Amino acid sequence: TTSVVLFTRDLRLHDHPPLRAALDGSDAVVPLFVRDRAVDAAGFAAPNRLAFLADCLHDLDAGLRERGGHLVVRSGDLVDQVCAVAAEAEADEVHMASDVSGHAHRREERLRDALGAGGRRLHVHDAVTTVLAPGAVTPASSDHFAVFTPYHRRWSECSVREALAAPRKVRVPDGVGSEPLPGRSDLTGLSPGLAAGGEREARKRLTAWLRDGITGYADRHDDLAGDDTSRLSPHLHFGALSPVELVHRARAKGGAGAEAFVRQVAWRDFHAQVLSARPRASTADYRTRHDRWRTGARADEDIAAWKEGRTGYPIVDAAMRQLRHEGWMHNRARLLTASFLTKTLYVDWRVGARHFLDLLVDGDVANNQMNWQWAAGTGTDTRPHRVLNPLTQARRFDPDGAYVRRWVPELAGLEGRYVHEPWRLTGRERAEYDAYPDPVVDLGEGLDRFKRARGRE
Ligand code: FAD
Repeated sequence: TTSVVLFTRDLRLHDHPPLRAALDGSDAVVPLFVRDRAVDAAGFAAPNRLAFLADCLHDLDAGLRERGGHLVVRSGDLVDQVCAVAAEAEADEVHMASDVSGHAHRREERLRDALGAGGRRLHVHDAVTTVLAPGAVTPASSDHFAVFTPYHRRWSECSVREALAAPRKVRVPDGVGSEPLPGRSDLTGLSPGLAAGGEREARKRLTAWLRDGITGYADRHDDLAGDDTSRLSPHLHFGALSPVELVHRARAKGGAGAEAFVRQVAWRDFHAQVLSARPRASTADYRTRHDRWRTGARADEDIAAWKEGRTGYPIVDAAMRQLRHEGWMHNRARLLTASFLTKTLYVDWRVGARHFLDLLVDGDVANNQMNWQWAAGTGTDTRPHRVLNPLTQARRFDPDGAYVRRWVPELAGLEGRYVHEPWRLTGRERAEYDAYPDPVVDLGEGLDRFKRARGRE
């Protein structure tokens, strides 16, 4: 018998339940990746992620070849392609991981029906792209948790399935054609400092993180210049790393750093279970606040300044330039830039979320949209009207200004506290830093506008 294993956001060989089940139940498997036309059409085909995806696919193919197999790649309508491959291979079953977005849910249903019509079965495996399946824990009165703390308490009490070893051999039947693997070389508009993808790279980073980084995580994770977080998010997004294995290995390490780190990974599951239960939250407000976000020419100018990192607030600009340069941004920086756009400039969170998705290599519909909603106060934040003051954030999380000097070259020579408020320089000194813009908004005015808009004056 033959099975098809459909890889989606689980581009790895270690701890891969669909692959394991297929290998256990059949003589041969077709490892398949379909570049889903609908995902591209929905605006997810951003260059940084396509490049990272190409790395992941090449690495997966190499790993399969070491084991006697190879990856089959197709593009088009995912359901049509899977059915075609299953027919070519004369496969009885298809195995894949479950996923959380509305698109993923609909796609899974269509695929089940289409395969069923041909007498084939679809097996969908949970806890492949998340640690726990969405819905594994629920409160008494709802189908999902809307507040993180009680979710995390329950999540922490659950047993996590064992991580699986990578297979030793993979036998692929002859005669199933593949398109060439996509490469990085035909992509333009990549961030110059983009990280490399692939399972090998992910596992190297994980090993280094467990050895050198995780112990200090509780104390250092908010230090912008220190850059002391794991940077595993793109690997988790593409599933080059299993979140289940990650949690087991972090817990085995133990200590306050590991505990704080695993708590952060639980946020990922938390957002997944919110989106899975409320798929519309990817575009619609999770909690309607009746915001009348700013629009018009002035708002457009502010949006452009925010995107390009020239708002005149150095900490915001440093973060936005890091995003453009690396396709990645520190969590603290994501929080303060999102608060700045949605609350200080009072611009619709969807505008910011779109820009992040255009650039983030870890850009993820659940994590991005739900974090944006959290920052905008339309999501699951239990204090939705709090506003992060960029100056207070800068003094706390970049006390020496090293992060600003790294990313804002106009201010690289500016020592001392004015690095966070260059508008306070006077005379010759101000002239020296003239290339750096004045603030686009007065913080007090921004705050008043937000309070008025939310009816909380
Ligand atoms: P670490 O601090 O090392 O954390 C380990 C892992 O935990 C991360 O890799 C990530 O998978 C998870 N994690 C950490 N913080 C969060 C969080 N707040 N929510 C969900 N998961 C978390 N993360 C994405 O993966 N994709 C996104 O598109 C994304 N967009 C965001 C947008 C905004 C406005 C905000 C505030 C946060 C966003 N995040 C997103 C969450 C978080 O900023 C990143 O996961 C984190 O910065 C990645 O860096 P790291 O791997 O070094 O994290």
